[in-house]
Amino acid sequence: MKINNMQNVKRPEGVVVFISGTTGQDGSHLADYLLANTTVSVIGGARRLSVENHINIKHLENEPRFQLVNFDLSDAHSISETIEQLKPDYFINFAAQSFVASSWDFARQTWQTNSTAVLDILESIRKHKPECRFYNAGSSEEFGDVQYIPQDELHPLRPRSPYGASKAAARQIVKVYRESYGLYAIQGWLFNHEGPRRGDEFVTRKITKGVAGIVYNIKNNTQFSPIELGNVYSKRDWSDAEDFVAGVWMMMNQELYRPELTNIHSAGIGSSKRITNAITPKLREYVLSSDETHTIKEFVEKAFRIAGIEGVWHGDGMNEEFSLKSDQVLSLKPVSSVLVKINPNFYRPAEVDFLLGNSSKFRKDFNWSPKTNFDGLIKKMVEFDIKKMSLPE
Ligand code: GDP
Repeated sequence: MKINNMQNVKRPEGVVVFISGTTGQDGSHLADYLLANTTVSVIGGARRLSVENHINIKHLENEPRFQLVNFDLSDAHSISETIEQLKPDYFINFAAQSFVASSWDFARQTWQTNSTAVLDILESIRKHKPECRFYNAGSSEEFGDVQYIPQDELHPLRPRSPYGASKAAARQIVKVYRESYGLYAIQGWLFNHEGPRRGDEFVTRKITKGVAGIVYNIKNNTQFSPIELGNVYSKRDWSDAEDFVAGVWMMMNQELYRPELTNIHSAGIGSSKRITNAITPKLREYVLSSDETHTIKEFVEKAFRIAGIEGVWHGDGMNEEFSLKSDQVLSLKPVSSVLVKINPNFYRPAEVDFLLGNSSKFRKDFNWSPKTNFDGLIKKMVEFDIKKMSLPE
């Protein structure tokens, strides 16, 4: 897909939404959502890589309201040029070092991308387009070592990974800019959200791709290796990423959903450094979650079941395995029968053991409920990966 240099991009007429990280799961879903449901123009930022990773946005190639531009969060000049030139009405920051496990290996880069770059964006918005609404992707990982169940907006920030710490730091600087300069700048807490566009390294996609591979091998009567996982006892609150991007857009337009804000007219900020935007003191940052929690084990069992494979857990600790049930071994006659095994390399230096969100505030204020539940999400992912597996490369 053609990627433009910022110098060659003309600001479109009307409302412009800039999405950083547009080639990723959330960025690409938000672009789809906005193009289908609003009249805004979308400009997506992406890093130029020698091997293109445009698979999630390929279908937008001929979309007249979508443009892709070169953008790199690690370069403050790139950020400031983007905001100065495009003067976007919304800046949705979905670019990040988003994989928790890697954040121990690349702690500084995680901090630079997820915290320092957020400060750079806020500073550029303040200077060049203070009316621009800013969303930064926050995470349930900020709650970390949880103190109470379920976690809501009042839960303290107790991160357990460099990733969680970087997002918690970003939250503080977003708050400072909102309160000091009256920017419409917020950071929601999105619990885990998944789908067929999820990166392969996340546990859900690793499982659904693994299931698809095993189904393929059983059908073709060929050897397969088990899926290797780390801690299968941690619990996560998983949702569909498509449901959440719609929620993020609602959070970015709070006056449309919260009648108490409709009487407040933004005074505009102009050159003043004081709070002049009357809406911002009343802005809320929300938790988005399914309000259900499940172990990795449950995800594994359901993913195989959807693919028509029944398994059973046996063994303990590092020797725990999930294998085909004996009747299935007899009927399918596979070359091997172990479906999942434990690999200590996938354990983390510190774990967030339990996440369960309480999104009642958002559900009430926005009359929102998710379209896809846990079973629906797994089905969508498994079916996608099985179909993909059967297509030629
Ligand atoms: P996270 O919640 O943002 O860290 O999302 P992940 O999908 O990466 O991990 C979810 C949970 O699955 C964590 O508690 C991991 O420790 C656990 N997990 C167990 N095995 C694996 C694995 O092989 N890969 C990943 N990514 N996570 C695993």
